[in-house]
Amino acid sequence: MKKFTLIGAGLVGSLLSIYLSKRGYKVSMYERRPDLRTNRISAGRSINLALSDRGWRGLEKIGVADEVRKVALPMKGRIMHGVDSSLSYQPYGKEGQAIYSVSRGGLNCLLMDLAEKNGVDIFFNEKCTGVDLKKGNAFFENFETKKNLEVTADYLFASDGAGSAARLQLQLSTDRFEYSQEYLEHGYKELNIPATPSGDFAMDPTALHIWPRGSYMLIALPNLDKSFTCTLFFPFDGEYSFNTLTSEEKMMDFFQKTFPDAVPLMPTLKTDYFENPTSSLGIIRCFPWSYEDKLLLVGDAAHAIVPFYGQGMNCGFEDCVVMDQLMDAHGDDWKKIFHAFENLRKPDSDAIAELAVSNFIEMRDKVGQKEFLLQKKIEAWFSTNHPDKWIPLYTMVTFSPDIRYSEALREGKRQESIMQKVMSLPNIEANWNSPEVEKLILDLV
Ligand SMILES: Cc1cc2nc3c(=O)[nH]c(=O)nc-3n(C[C@H](O)[C@H](O)[C@H](O)COP(=O)(O)OP(=O)(O)OC[C@H]3O[C@@H](n4cnc5c(N)ncnc54)[C@H](O)[C@@H]3O)c2cc1C
Repeated sequence: MKKFTLIGAGLVGSLLSIYLSKRGYKVSMYERRPDLRTNRISAGRSINLALSDRGWRGLEKIGVADEVRKVALPMKGRIMHGVDSSLSYQPYGKEGQAIYSVSRGGLNCLLMDLAEKNGVDIFFNEKCTGVDLKKGNAFFENFETKKNLEVTADYLFASDGAGSAARLQLQLSTDRFEYSQEYLEHGYKELNIPATPSGDFAMDPTALHIWPRGSYMLIALPNLDKSFTCTLFFPFDGEYSFNTLTSEEKMMDFFQKTFPDAVPLMPTLKTDYFENPTSSLGIIRCFPWSYEDKLLLVGDAAHAIVPFYGQGMNCGFEDCVVMDQLMDAHGDDWKKIFHAFENLRKPDSDAIAELAVSNFIEMRDKVGQKEFLLQKKIEAWFSTNHPDKWIPLYTMVTFSPDIRYSEALREGKRQESIMQKVMSLPNIEANWNSPEVEKLILDLV
């Protein structure tokens, strides 16, 4: 029986291990952290995540979607909070379409449980310190025992996230390995909106909440315990930044002026702001993702992106679906599988990386602008009338797993150029759903 070693039991590693073990392979997974299920530690980074159709498809194929659905909260659209505390709403898709807020830790625990049920061995406190590419061996250091371990396997998968140790090995010891790491000027910090004293949600739980403020924003996603996890995406430097809001007075003054309707809902704002870490946001691109038939990078280890399209995990789950299709197509020819995988996924992960950066500008700035909301309204109207001619970009990325990210990016750019012509028509505010506008789009599409 072929032996597979996975480095990292995060979201993508845990899911991929199930796909492999279901095919009868012997799978072992080595994770740096202690077992999340017995240690109440943070799963690292965001507490909740938006799961959408590409991710669901990855879960459905191994029969775990129904279990996740029970603990997932549907968000049908976004509610924008103005500086004057006014609210506006924009649906994400058509009736019945939603993205889902899920607990990162909860999902990871569920996937690890299922992995073990399927025969995967998981070893915790094992930090990968390097790999021997020629032999396909991986080296680990145990945090508790301090013992070093060399693991021999037929194939290695690096699912150890954005800071991948295995990727570093590729970078250090292979020729022409392309690598880039780019940081945004913004970082993020998590804050909290608890349930109300009567035990209810403090805001509408069926939407993702956004306080768009031009160059920064606050967002909030609901949790099962009726709290919201908020994330402040904010510049590190500048007049209003993590580096200037350094006293309670300055911070509270800024929040009260900038997010006036959120502050009364955040009783622990001061401690959250000063005690929770400020984390950076980066994009990692690299190529190739494989070494011979020995090692393959997957998930964030291969393609870490910024979180503004809510697609990082979804893209990683899609990696597992594509891997499954390639196993169907190429059987046990792992050199072919690794090679086909990286060539198929690279254009798509580059595309979602680009889309995610542009969605930051949309979320923090454009969703607060009347013209942008009008443009989205026209697109939704035209798409309803001509579903065969126009699928809005958000729908392609989020609700259309059969459309590749790279196709969505290309089509989105084409649509944007059409919409620029439409939006420049005189009196478009009044005539947005007129036969003339419809005809113009039909001519251009
Ligand atoms: C603020 C924020 C919000 C996000 N929101 C969303 C969202 O709404 N929707 C979405 O789809 N995506 C979102 N993402 C992206 C998502 O978190 C990642 O894409 C996803 O976690 C990638 O999964 P992964 O398993 O590849 O990596 P990770 O989740 O990072 O898992 C890697 C695992 O490897 C382990 N590990 C690391 N190094 C080693 C080592 N040397 N040895 C052994 N083990 C190691 C880690 O402990 C971890 O368990 C968000 C990201 C951030 C930062």
